[in-house]
Amino acid sequence: MQLNNADRELIDKIEELSGENVFSCYQCGKCSAGCPFTEEMDLLPNQVIRKVQMGDVSVLQSETPWICASCLSCEVDCPKGNNVPAIMEAIREISLRENVDKVELKDLKTRGLPEIALVSNFRKKTS
Ligand code: SF4
Ligand code: SF4
Repeated sequence: MQLNNADRELIDKIEELSGENVFSCYQCGKCSAGCPFTEEMDLLPNQVIRKVQMGDVSVLQSETPWICASCLSCEVDCPKGNNVPAIMEAIREISLRENVDKVELKDLKTRGLPEIALVSNFRKKTS
């Protein structure tokens, strides 16, 4: 797969912020199989990682990193020990820096989202 500079920029940023090598993921899907929040997600956790591997900036539009509760279940299940929640956090961080709005406070009551969404949203509103 040929990556251009823009693709590489996203990958480098996420790897720097998360401390993870995103290419160590080989897409087995075990992280997604054990994730308790996939029903709320628009991309499965392994799909988020795949988009990152491709340098696909559309991953910044996904709600999944905001739904992720950092419960660590995926990291425990991952045969490669990938810290998926750290990658989700890196994506949230980049989104916050770029002022991308993903979860509205008014929706939290009705959607029953995990606390991380609430915390992240307040961080965004106060940053
Ligand atoms: S469990 Fe690990 S290797 Fe498998 S898809 Fe998820 S992050 Fe990738
Ligand atoms: S840390 Fe996030 S992605 Fe991983 S299992 Fe928990 S909610 Fe799902």
